[in-house]
Amino acid sequence: MAWQPADNRYETMKYNRLGKSGLKLPAISLGLWHNFGGDTRHELKREICRTAFDLGVTHFDLANNYGPPPGSAETAFGEILRTDFHGLRDELIISSKAGYEMWKGPYGEWGSRKYLIASCDQSLKRTGLDYFDIFYSHRFDPDTPLEETMGALDQIVRSGRALYVGISSYNSKRTKEAYKILKDLGTPFVIHQPSYSMINRWIEEDGLIDTLDDLGLGSIVFSPLAQGMLTAKYLGGIPEDSRAVQDKSLNPDFLNEKNVENIRALNRIAEKRGQTLAQMALAWVLRGGRITSALIGASKPSQVVDCVAAIEKPDFTKAELEEIDKYAKEADINLWAASAERKGPARKKK
Ligand code: NDP
Repeated sequence: MAWQPADNRYETMKYNRLGKSGLKLPAISLGLWHNFGGDTRHELKREICRTAFDLGVTHFDLANNYGPPPGSAETAFGEILRTDFHGLRDELIISSKAGYEMWKGPYGEWGSRKYLIASCDQSLKRTGLDYFDIFYSHRFDPDTPLEETMGALDQIVRSGRALYVGISSYNSKRTKEAYKILKDLGTPFVIHQPSYSMINRWIEEDGLIDTLDDLGLGSIVFSPLAQGMLTAKYLGGIPEDSRAVQDKSLNPDFLNEKNVENIRALNRIAEKRGQTLAQMALAWVLRGGRITSALIGASKPSQVVDCVAAIEKPDFTKAELEEIDKYAKEADINLWAASAERKGPARKKK
């Protein structure tokens, strides 16, 4: 018999308004950067997505290049849409992005109109969708006029390829510039996707978080678990099935003795709160309501279950926050801060 989603799927999840827009996102969203490529069993991908949806996770985040190979996560999710989420399109918020290298030659990356529109079309084809709910410029392109990149996003909405647009990893200054261009064009620009976690606070230091409040934009923060560092999984060494040993962009050097000591201290605070460390890390990014959604990744359904339960204990005392700061700031790694203002040697990015 075909899989049926849980009847009670909307009973426990919290849905937060995306800035001043009419759209709401679940407090916890699922990203398909890792574990949705050709290196993962398709059945496992299906189980992860079904578990998430059953728990009220309505938002699934993609990008052109997620895999490996690039594009395969979109293809896999397209398959899941047909086999499992069939008939549920209007209950889902599906996003994709373009900005990193997707194909060879001068039109296969960054922020030109040529690249963004072609890439959006390819992503629609791979997923089998008629439109994305949100389409992003994945990174700021220092060599393309911002008017061109934003104009392409505007065109993507006007042509029916997406309902809303967003930007990812743009710093505060570039976000203000993008906002002005899109406001003048009348484009529904509603969301920013930066990295943020207890041990990666660049959006506070750069002022981006205040800028988003001022502009009435929503935010979805990626790698809120610092790619797994802010979970209990590395406290006793590096497990074989973890991202740190699979060349999946988590630099094992970050797991040095000093950082792990600080993470152990954070874990003790989480235990005192009656939460897992992953749950405390997610509650922390969502504290005070300034962040709309925490965008997690998962390699197993049980991780999704653990993460979603973060919403059960959202509040922190002043003393807890101070204690977290003490250890988290020492382990600060500023993973994936804002896109570079100038093109340098390519960052390793999936
Ligand atoms: P996280 O910080 O949530 O890291 C996810 C990893 O943490 C999982 O793969 C798993 O590691 C581990 N994990 C998750 N839950 C648990 C748990 N409960 N207990 C123990 N371990 C757990 O996020 P990601 O770095 O994966 O990023 C999330 C999403 O953000 C991406 O899928 C993508 O959609 C988006 N993103 C966007 C970027 C951008 O430039 N806009 C850049 C990067 C990500 P393991 O696999 O080792 O089990």
